Amino acid sequence: MKIGILGGGQLGRMFIQNALNYDDEFHVLDPNSDCSCAYISHFSQGNFNDYEDVLAFGQDKDVISIEIEHVNVDALFELEKQGKKVIPSAEIIKTIQQKILQKEFYKKHNIPSPDFQIISNVSEATFALPFVQKLNTGGYDGKGVQVIKAENDLKNLWDAPSVLESLVDIDKELSIIIAKNENGETKTFPVTEMVADEKLNLLDFNICPADISKDVQSQIDAIAEKFINAANSAGLFAIELFLDKNGKVWVNETAPRLHNSGHQTQEGNANSQFEQFYRTLKNLPLADTDAFGFSGMLNLVGEQNYSGKVIYEGLEEVLKLPKTYVHLYGKTETKPGRKMGHINVLANSREELLEKLNHIKTLVRVIA
Ligand code: ADP
Repeated sequence: MKIGILGGGQLGRMFIQNALNYDDEFHVLDPNSDCSCAYISHFSQGNFNDYEDVLAFGQDKDVISIEIEHVNVDALFELEKQGKKVIPSAEIIKTIQQKILQKEFYKKHNIPSPDFQIISNVSEATFALPFVQKLNTGGYDGKGVQVIKAENDLKNLWDAPSVLESLVDIDKELSIIIAKNENGETKTFPVTEMVADEKLNLLDFNICPADISKDVQSQIDAIAEKFINAANSAGLFAIELFLDKNGKVWVNETAPRLHNSGHQTQEGNANSQFEQFYRTLKNLPLADTDAFGFSGMLNLVGEQNYSGKVIYEGLEEVLKLPKTYVHLYGKTETKPGRKMGHINVLANSREELLEKLNHIKTLVRVIA
């Protein structure tokens, strides 16, 4: 089967790496001829945001999917009209691309998400302080999101269509990955805790399984089920969640694709998110997702003040450690905050896992 993926970054790379266990052809569309997938796929250079490029790319593919959600969705609607298989659907990608549509979707389907106001410009902002402003489009990895705490910060409001959302008093950031095939079968991965790097506003550690109560687990199960029914599309989705200090779970946002919060599934679970995603594209029975024990992930991100040809300092020390797995993304140039790779770790307890992750963090630096 000819599988076409819009985007040639690390998510696509790890998907192809896994899917080479099977007999398919992997095609990738990306503007950068040196992207993470360039040398391991049938590579087409082009812009996944361009209508004509996406339409042309999709013509001879049996299924078209994404590894980034900022793609030209009109072309995907057209491909669907032509009878092509697009997973996830153009409709759900469009909904998720725009924070305003995404929030309205949660509200319509009774999926708990923080209260909000939609504005098209600053003059409309009347939402109670403190709140978080999220640009309707163009946000990524924490960019396009700002906290407005007091009257005094109102002058910083971005004058653009946005969502103003209540500030949640966050206890934990969690994620659940759920997959659905075209037969309607669904399966989730164990809930993962995401620990953010305050400076970079980027995900730093994943810890799986999350340390949560039965009640929190059942709130999350209910959310995942409501989401997958409402989305009405095959595919793999990562639902990012907040657990607040009162024990209530809220949806932050959803990614209609493979996700950083699922990287430890590569060695930590019976099957990875990459395997599961492959199965959704081919409408195969979904894979079992059982965790082997405790697993975690540490992102390797470009250190501040270093740009240029990448050096992974300390990596050999990491390779000496047991049950520790290095994944690099094939990016030659590092930049501050750029995701260059990750390290997965297995452990027998949460304490051991945290100790290992913190130790590895002191060993390795991504510099130039
Ligand atoms: P992005 O799509 O850029 O990752 P997010 O919407 O996930 O943006 O926001 C980035 C981070 O900002 C979140 O991980 C969380 O730490 C914080 N944040 C977002 N929304 C809220 C909120 N309503 N209350 C408190 N913190 C929030």
